[in-house]
Amino acid sequence: MPSIYERLGVAPVINAKGTATRLSGGIMRREVADAMVEASEACVDIAALQAAASREIAAVTGAEAGYVASGASACLLLATAACMAGLDLSAMARLPDTAGVKNEVVMVRSQRNFYDHAVRGAGARIVEVGLPDRFAGAGVRDAEGWEIDAAITERTAAVFYVADALARPSLPEVIEVAHRRGVPVFVDAAAQLPPQSNLRRFIAEGADLVAFSGGKVIGGPQASGFLCGRRDLIMSAALQHLDFDIPWARWQPPPGLIDKAKLKGVPLHGIGRPCKAGKEEIAGLLTALRLFVQEGDAARHARWLKRVNEMAKHLRCAGVDILYTDDLSAVPQVKLTLKGMTAEEFLTRLATGTPAVHADASVWDSQVVFLNPLCLGEGDGARVAEAVNAILA
Ligand SMILES: *Cc1c(COP(=O)(O)O)cnc(C)c1O
Repeated sequence: MPSIYERLGVAPVINAKGTATRLSGGIMRREVADAMVEASEACVDIAALQAAASREIAAVTGAEAGYVASGASACLLLATAACMAGLDLSAMARLPDTAGVKNEVVMVRSQRNFYDHAVRGAGARIVEVGLPDRFAGAGVRDAEGWEIDAAITERTAAVFYVADALARPSLPEVIEVAHRRGVPVFVDAAAQLPPQSNLRRFIAEGADLVAFSGGKVIGGPQASGFLCGRRDLIMSAALQHLDFDIPWARWQPPPGLIDKAKLKGVPLHGIGRPCKAGKEEIAGLLTALRLFVQEGDAARHARWLKRVNEMAKHLRCAGVDILYTDDLSAVPQVKLTLKGMTAEEFLTRLATGTPAVHADASVWDSQVVFLNPLCLGEGDGARVAEAVNAILA
């Protein structure tokens, strides 16, 4: 029987790039796909399912509550909306029009990235601080705590922090400044796994909300992500995400997720409505998260290293190194140093071959390419090496 991709006339690719959305993310474990099928076979109250997800996410992150949406990007939109509107139903209904609503989100300029469109999409205006001077040779200061403090006004809804080993100032320092001014901090930690300890780290450091991707290293459905954090902010996110087309008297939201006593009425459809997560995504994500925690960093790293070694064993070109063989907090990779060809030229030939193989370079005009094991299926390691050999050997 032809595969779904054959029936649709779409050629599968070999993905040695990692969990990129443009390459459809990774390959889910069978248990995760089975959980999605099982969830699809009965209906539930979606708010009750989100309340159960909240308990599970709280248990693995140490946060008060959690929530599932269609990706980390969706979670950033919900986090922004929650910090802006709080539990004010009329503010929720107006977004992205922020008339009369705190609408400024302070962000370190060097942390600006493509995904912060989700923050702006909720109606917020990003207020940038810091000057990451890379070229003048006057010393790189990036941003400092006092600059964040100086940018906070009565219009500030939140400080937005993009977690990364290189991000400055440190998250605890940013939280200290923001909380002293009564402003919440939400964190983009979409790709901050491994190490597994990061599931708890940013919450333990005091972040009010943290967003993770479900479709990256966790191995959940590609269109899933979750928030964890403060109960009141998660409640606001839920109110701006779910449908509640039901009269007040009959509305019985799950108390673990939504405290009806804090509300004056039933919210209208909110700004987060396009970020819908179905019962299948919620069930898949929770299953993947459980398996992720069970596996642990060491076993996961060994599984990835096996794929990396499989690629390296079959490569017949010069310039092959293996990165992060002992570093459990990183994904091991093959590093290829090219001769007489730029990374861009090499990657173009690789991606236009048969089968198409996708890999990545840190900089396109460099001569360094990385082969990543995250999204390789059984036998793909040898296929990647064969395609590389055909160009280089
Ligand atoms: C991948 C990524 C996102 C988006 O995650 P999705 O789950 O694909 O929506 C956001 N921020 C950063 C830093 C990312 O790496």
